[in-house]
Amino acid sequence: MDKATIDTAAARLDAIKAEMGNAARLAGRQLDETALIAVSKTRSAAEVIPLLDAGHRVFGENRVQEATDKWPSLRAAYPETQLHLIGQLQSNKAVEAVELFNVIHSVDRPSLVTALGKAMKQLKKAVPCFIQVNIGAEDQKGGCSIDELPDLLAAAENNAIPVAGLMCLPPASVEPSPFFALLAELAARHRLEGLSMGMSGDFTTAIMLGATHIRVGTALFGARQNP
Ligand SMILES: *Cc1c(COP(=O)(O)O)cnc(C)c1O
Repeated sequence: MDKATIDTAAARLDAIKAEMGNAARLAGRQLDETALIAVSKTRSAAEVIPLLDAGHRVFGENRVQEATDKWPSLRAAYPETQLHLIGQLQSNKAVEAVELFNVIHSVDRPSLVTALGKAMKQLKKAVPCFIQVNIGAEDQKGGCSIDELPDLLAAAENNAIPVAGLMCLPPASVEPSPFFALLAELAARHRLEGLSMGMSGDFTTAIMLGATHIRVGTALFGARQNP
């Protein structure tokens, strides 16, 4: 099914859910074992509202400032909305991030762990976090190295940060399966349940390899102007 020829976001949402269901069935999993995060970065409120009206309530943003501008009014209108931060976070935005987001997917260094721990304590709000792993050991990518993961998990525990699982962005333009499988193995080794992996081009593969959260932008909303 070619989602590009489907002309509304709500119809694309249905098509994606059907693909998610097929992938889950093939893997002997249930559809509801994987949450679909609709990645609304760069999208206006007008683009997001049709998905909210279609009943979707889980959204992802990559920048604290953009989310702060966009979501408080939408959330007032659609109160059960869950917001996930999927982009790199600066430590000086930790308080804002903890205030606004329900889940943070991009925890990748000790200084950020410390800042988030302080922010959660100050705001008396425990926000589940994923540790982002630089699974392809790429220079330009965020995420901790595989070697750094045990220490970062220990730091999260020391700072009372609830760790939901691991997140990755595999290298572009190569087969993602080995990277998804490796992330799943790392999570199992550390007895973590959450696996945030899979985007528009590879979410069915990610579901078959155990994703609990997929992050889908383009396949829902169409191509971004400035990716
Ligand atoms: C933009 C983004 C996505 C969504 O990518 P698409 O290819 O548009 O589905 C997923 N994860 C992260 C971290 C992103 O920044």
